[in-house]
Amino acid sequence: MCRHLAYLGPPATLRSVIIDPPYGLYRQAWAPRRQRYGTANADGFGVGWYAAGDPVPARYRRPAPIWGDESFADVARVTSTGALLAAVRSATAGTDPGTAAAAPYAAGRWLFSHNGVLAGWPASAAGLAATLPAETLLGLEARVDSALLWALVRQRLERGLPAAQALAGTVAAVRSAGLDGRLNFLLTDGRVIAATAAGDTLFYRRGDGTVLVASEPGDDDPGWSEVPGESVVTATPQQVSVTGLEEAGPAGEISGNGRITVL
Ligand code: GLN
Repeated sequence: MCRHLAYLGPPATLRSVIIDPPYGLYRQAWAPRRQRYGTANADGFGVGWYAAGDPVPARYRRPAPIWGDESFADVARVTSTGALLAAVRSATAGTDPGTAAAAPYAAGRWLFSHNGVLAGWPASAAGLAATLPAETLLGLEARVDSALLWALVRQRLERGLPAAQALAGTVAAVRSAGLDGRLNFLLTDGRVIAATAAGDTLFYRRGDGTVLVASEPGDDDPGWSEVPGESVVTATPQQVSVTGLEEAGPAGEISGNGRITVL
């Protein structure tokens, strides 16, 4: 499955965060070290980052492997940011290819990525999809399980839930709809990173005013910590907190009429 990464800290080039680390996201596209599902991540990639003075991030996404994009390597060398979220994709069977399907997905100041799968997609997700308003479904960026999950997360953010609770509530909603899957989410607004470990690997590293949250370590620095499964992480350069998904509530719940209620 995919690999993803988020960074907060002093301005750093996209290259120094994504391409330069010896086992970083760039290399993880063809030689991940900890990936549990799939082998290569060659079905596209994307980076979203925040420029000084603008809360809405820019994105650069492509449907092709990251290693083949010379323009990205060049732009990444001279583009600096204090906050980014990036992903390399191994597309789930039955999902759309293309740029619109590549993470990060975005809304306003938020960037989102999903490492995992909704088992049985797309047929299995019909009940879950029916809990969303038709306008939301018609407005999905792409026919990808991750885009549907992003709509569920967004719904919770729009209701004012903090990032970690929006992610934990979405995991709970998926499971209470009877769906199986791997649900490693990554979310940032450029100030805080939230992420779930729910089926695949997740690590973080804090230090020197920086924090990284990533599917796997980009180097052999002993400062990396593995996040236990069934957890949600909230990370800033000052602090990282890890909470069990169960305790993270308020969880989303599918009520009798099929609408999602956020408790
Ligand atoms: N299901 C998502 C997609 O198709 C994520 C896949 C993954 O984690 N490999 O893009």
